[in-house]
Amino acid sequence: MRILYVEDEKLLADAVTHLLKKQGIAVDWTDDGEEALKLAKKPVYDAIVLDIMLPKMSGLEILEIIRKQSINTPVIMLSALSEIEDKVKGLELGADDYLAKPFKTSELIARLNALSRRPPIRERKILKFADIEFDPEDRTVNGVTLTEKESEILKMLIEAGDKTVQKDYILGHVWGAEMLAEDNYVEVYMSYLRKKLKSVSSKVSIKTIRGLGYKLVKK
Ligand code: CA
Repeated sequence: MRILYVEDEKLLADAVTHLLKKQGIAVDWTDDGEEALKLAKKPVYDAIVLDIMLPKMSGLEILEIIRKQSINTPVIMLSALSEIEDKVKGLELGADDYLAKPFKTSELIARLNALSRRPPIRERKILKFADIEFDPEDRTVNGVTLTEKESEILKMLIEAGDKTVQKDYILGHVWGAEMLAEDNYVEVYMSYLRKKLKSVSSKVSIKTIRGLGYKLVKK
């Protein structure tokens, strides 16, 4: 296992590196954000251990940039226990784990082992149908943002492929227990979705199957 370790406290970094190496974990250490970004691009790391408080660029900024570059290497964030907001932010930005300082190196090793047993996570799952590509995570279709309900509906339609999705099924799953959901809600949202598909010049359209439901068709 090889890790990238970004930490500006040299004494701590030396101690941790020494202990990790004893466990057979190769460590590339840097205290510099720019260098961390360069190194993170190399496809050699099983994990990145990233301190939040760094002098020039914060660990959170580094994390944000590498995730934007679609680098999916697992990341463990390090920060003082008091920085709970940083923890939340880090996880939102795509960190896989979090360790509060001070920590035991054995704890870090356990977390690294847990991460390396997993396949790289947070790989984007894009759903496709003909010329449309739907990203359920950021709710976009061919780059255009959908509302939450539009997104849920489109997901059902794409997953059904060329089969019809029943109107009642959509109503039940999207509106669920929400009171007063009416039949025509589905029709209204279909018209929103049709507009969005049109706005991205898609060849896909939503066909109404009378008395039954909806399905995607390729023009
Ligand atoms: Ca620090």
